[in-house]
Amino acid sequence: MSVFLPQEFIAQIRDGGQVTNADIKRFIQGFANGQTSQAQIGAFAMAVRLSGLPPHSIVALTEALRDSGDVMAWDLDGPVLDKHSTGGVGDNVSLLLGPIIAACGGYVPMISGQGLGHTGGTLDKLDSIPGYRVDADNDLFRKTVSEVGCAIIGQTGHLAPADKTLYAIRSATACVDSVPLITASILSKKLAEGLDALVLDIKCGNGAMMTDVGAARTLAGSLIDVANGAGVKTTGLITDMNQSLASAAGNALEVMNVIEYFNNTARDQRLHQVTVGLCAEMLVSSGLAPDLKAANSKVESVIHNGRAAGVFAKMVAALGGPKDLLENPDKYFPPAPVVQDIYANTDGVISGIDTKAIGLAVIVLGGGRKKPEDTIDSRVGFDHLATLGQSVGKGDVLARMHAADEDSAHGASKILEHAYSIGERAETGPLIIERIGEV
Ligand code: URA
Repeated sequence: MSVFLPQEFIAQIRDGGQVTNADIKRFIQGFANGQTSQAQIGAFAMAVRLSGLPPHSIVALTEALRDSGDVMAWDLDGPVLDKHSTGGVGDNVSLLLGPIIAACGGYVPMISGQGLGHTGGTLDKLDSIPGYRVDADNDLFRKTVSEVGCAIIGQTGHLAPADKTLYAIRSATACVDSVPLITASILSKKLAEGLDALVLDIKCGNGAMMTDVGAARTLAGSLIDVANGAGVKTTGLITDMNQSLASAAGNALEVMNVIEYFNNTARDQRLHQVTVGLCAEMLVSSGLAPDLKAANSKVESVIHNGRAAGVFAKMVAALGGPKDLLENPDKYFPPAPVVQDIYANTDGVISGIDTKAIGLAVIVLGGGRKKPEDTIDSRVGFDHLATLGQSVGKGDVLARMHAADEDSAHGASKILEHAYSIGERAETGPLIIERIGEV
């Protein structure tokens, strides 16, 4: 074996040279065996941030991060599938999509994360369900996926631990915003789930990590090329995040929104359209449907005949939550102490919504973290959020706010009022902006 010097390896990347896949692997393996120092990890991150990495090296980096921990293997009678979203506000798609795909014959072992910045996290939403074990161990996770068809839990220490190390150092060294590093980080964890196919929801707009479509396209292209390069059939949708996707933003409120969706009592149309679009991609990629038309009708049918709702209920119960959550949600989600409507101060049409500000207002209410160790109040947030293009009169409700106390209510209501612009007309673009990848 040739001599490997981490400093020479970093210099090659810094200078835009080629490195071998074997050297990438050795560098990442060095995180665990102490041969790569923290300083070298930081220097590597900055070298990639400034000079980039060729696509084949991003694939090698992704695989090396994935292989730093357990990689799941499954022996099931259907394809193993998952989705990744780059994050937004009121994005509770995962809670719908897992059960829908399971009801269509797929298996979804979804490892999800906490809220990041102003965006909400699936894990925090599920954590609002009393008893639900987001920290389920591997045995319970595997049993639930095999028997129910889907399970959504948090990342365990055994899954891509080198990514955890690299991410923490990126965060401390101004190296988060690098497409190759984001790509490898996201995909290392998804590929460790042992997937046959993956769909990506690349959010684009003022509530997303990527605010313009060019940047969203670049990230989507990188994720799709690398995931396919690593052997997982992957397609994606670039979807609009210039307003909250659901009419609720806040942890328990978004779970309630999902329950209403499954119970057919209320359904947000934008949320429905994105969910169906992503599910249909997954069914076609995995061979569970021959084309998008057939996939769409399969998805609609399991939503309407209650099979997806049944899977959701079983998943919640299998992971320690209440058995009657769909029947009696009010029993499990206590209302916040302060519930208050926020009103439009003029007549007109909602012409703009600062979506990031809505996410930040949820944090101000205590529904997200200001620092990593914060605990969150799952009761708080907004529902009945008014949508872009909606006509309002002075005094009409823009949103209903759920707060822990008057102080936080005051701060958050000001943010929400300012987040809404009311004018003469709204310019709204398509919800599904673009499809990326070949099914
Ligand atoms: N999410 C991740 O897991 N990693 C990144 O680098 C960015 C978002």
